[in-house]
Amino acid sequence: MTLSSTRDRTVVESAPAGLDLARLRSEFPILRTRVHGKPLVYLDNAATSQKPRTVVEAEADFSLLENANVHRGVHALSQRATAAYDRAREEVRTFLGASHASEIVFTAGTTAAINLVAQSYARPRLRSGDEILLTGMEHHSNIVPWQLVAQATGARIRVIPVTGSGELDLAGLNEVLTERTRLVALAHVSNVLGTVNPVRQIADRAHAVGATVLVDGAQAVPHIRVDLEALGADFYAASGHKMFGPTGIGFLYGRAALLDAMPPWQGGGGMIQNVTFEETTYAPVPAKFEAGTPPIAQAIGLGAAVRWLRSLDWSAVEAHEADLLAYATERLADVPGVRLIGTATEKVSMVSFVVDRVHPHDVGTVLDLQGIAVRASHHCAQPLMRHFGVAGTVRASFAAYNTRAEVNALIDGLLEVRKVFA
Ligand code: PMP
Repeated sequence: MTLSSTRDRTVVESAPAGLDLARLRSEFPILRTRVHGKPLVYLDNAATSQKPRTVVEAEADFSLLENANVHRGVHALSQRATAAYDRAREEVRTFLGASHASEIVFTAGTTAAINLVAQSYARPRLRSGDEILLTGMEHHSNIVPWQLVAQATGARIRVIPVTGSGELDLAGLNEVLTERTRLVALAHVSNVLGTVNPVRQIADRAHAVGATVLVDGAQAVPHIRVDLEALGADFYAASGHKMFGPTGIGFLYGRAALLDAMPPWQGGGGMIQNVTFEETTYAPVPAKFEAGTPPIAQAIGLGAAVRWLRSLDWSAVEAHEADLLAYATERLADVPGVRLIGTATEKVSMVSFVVDRVHPHDVGTVLDLQGIAVRASHHCAQPLMRHFGVAGTVRASFAAYNTRAEVNALIDGLLEVRKVFA
């Protein structure tokens, strides 16, 4: 096969009618940055996505014009801050289709949300002999918190295996999902493979044996219109910074009855009703789980991100992202020695791959010198890496603002990698 550059190829952007790519990109000033003298090609959206101007402005406006602490103030500014914080929670509720804003707990991110469920829901309930069911494609933040619970309670962790194409192997589900299963925790979308898991099907089976279902939605929310009711999730966790919002903020959705029954995990200001040295009564949810001053500006930024997401024409975004995925998959086949990891039928727009005889870090470094940002690592999914027999992969993850021209830049970059390591 000849190493043909795509530099001279006429790029046909095929964004659907509802998506004005140039306008969309103009909302993200960082996309005009140059790196190593080259235009930035940002393909690391699964690690953190970029923020549109409206998100940064919402945070800045709050900080510059309305900053005050929430909840405890009688003065006007504090009340304005409280109202803005509450509005952000309502935005998230609407985005997820949850019934009540009180079912949305603001957390530092997905990791914090999962740990909250692990420590407050699972740890007090689980006993020796109980089982927690995970999948073989979980991020470490949906593995380690459950190991901590298992160590503390004597519960056992079981795993749904992954097939060669990167889908969940449900053939043996009845062996791992039994009356002993108390909790099932799974990714809605894999951060390595892009696989969209059949959450509803698994949730129905889990509920049939009386298990509770936590869904790690970190990689789903930027790509999929999440409908909690349709998914059947009891808990749903995600991070602001992967959905065009700020770092330091995320959320846990929990069914009202579950959250109500859970004891607080962290104690402090803002989560109490009455405190004496003898005992404390707690505030109702969600305040019960938000001890201390919350990340107020970040929550307001997350609210703005969700508003922005909801303003998009989603069928156009989905069509565009599907096109980027198909185009990238097709073009990667042109690069000798590239092997895709993750070829599920249902995928969001990301590609993981290895390059024959070249370490992922070296691939990432050569691409970086050309202004192309990808992730090259184990992606916090070491068990999955072991399953595929690789130390790591290179992952190019797309967002709505990416283009076919950027896919071409990636392919040119990989042809350069082949030359450097020939
Ligand atoms: N789960 C998945 C699937 C992820 O991709 C990530 C982030 N890479 C996390 C959990 C953890 O998210 P955070 O670091 O924002 O808490």
